[in-house]
Amino acid sequence: MTAYGDGVTPVPSEEGRRDDTAQPYELIVVGSVNADLVVRVDRRPLPGETVIGSDLATYPGGKGANQAVAAARLGARVALLGRIGSDGNGEFLRKALDGDGVDLSHLTETPGSTGIALITVGSDGNNSIIVSPGVNARLSENDIAAAAGLLASARVVSLQLESPLATVVAAARTAARVVFNLSPPAVVPDDLLAVCDPLVVNEHEAALLLGAPGVPDRQAKALLALGPRSVVLTLGADGAVVAEPGGVTAVPSPQVEAVDTTGAGDAFTGALAWRLARGDDLVTATAFAVRVGAASVREPGAQSSYPYPEDLEGL
Ligand code: ADP
Repeated sequence: MTAYGDGVTPVPSEEGRRDDTAQPYELIVVGSVNADLVVRVDRRPLPGETVIGSDLATYPGGKGANQAVAAARLGARVALLGRIGSDGNGEFLRKALDGDGVDLSHLTETPGSTGIALITVGSDGNNSIIVSPGVNARLSENDIAAAAGLLASARVVSLQLESPLATVVAAARTAARVVFNLSPPAVVPDDLLAVCDPLVVNEHEAALLLGAPGVPDRQAKALLALGPRSVVLTLGADGAVVAEPGGVTAVPSPQVEAVDTTGAGDAFTGALAWRLARGDDLVTATAFAVRVGAASVREPGAQSSYPYPEDLEGL
């Protein structure tokens, strides 16, 4: 393999992308890039009701970008394959990602609106989110085909569902190892589930997939029975449960004061995917990822709250 940074210059392709010969990355994240528009509220409005919230704050977000930034801040060599729009938010997000050291050779600017997430954060620190995909919806199977060599060369490819399902399926087929956060939840084909190692879901997503809530250990086992190679079920303040063919392992989270849980799952999954790419076993990688997830809920915002290695001391 060609060592990263050894003088090989990526060649722009016809689409303005760099050629697949620029490799290898530890981790490639295929996914969404959004501007998070956040308002804090004492309580959420009922249908037809208006409530007054805080001033608006705009943060870099999107599940794909969040995962990439979480990994990059921890030291990963990570690329993001996605789309931003030709607007101010796109420019804002590109600068933020670049500043965090995410490789943007495969981030394409597309005419149209950058993705947006409208987020309300309640007084309990929990959030409610509406996503307007914008040009994230145009990340296509052709984008995956154009980056096939690159995707195949990465140790881990991390996927989520703020991109079109057909694109996610194509990326999963190309990857050596797939970490798949099935979020937002949706019905996905069995052959996508079958390559997940692991499938990552939170308790709400697990309940939707399985048709009912339940005890975490049993839910994790039931998810494994759906076909993935392994499962990580995240449990908020209670950490996570790992299910593998060899058994189920509970991984507790450090206790912290939660200020804003926005993007905690993305921080968790980015950290997990990177540690798997570095060769950790799944339980060890999860034990690291719960520390990253816990660190991320102590500050407001998604990426703005993501830790650097020194922030994990004491967790
Ligand atoms: P999501 O953000 O997708 O809803 P979770 O709420 O399960 O997922 O959070 C993902 C991870 O973030 C958890 O496994 C845990 O490591 C961390 N986390 C989330 N909320 C808290 C919290 N209140 N205290 C400590 N860690 C938390």
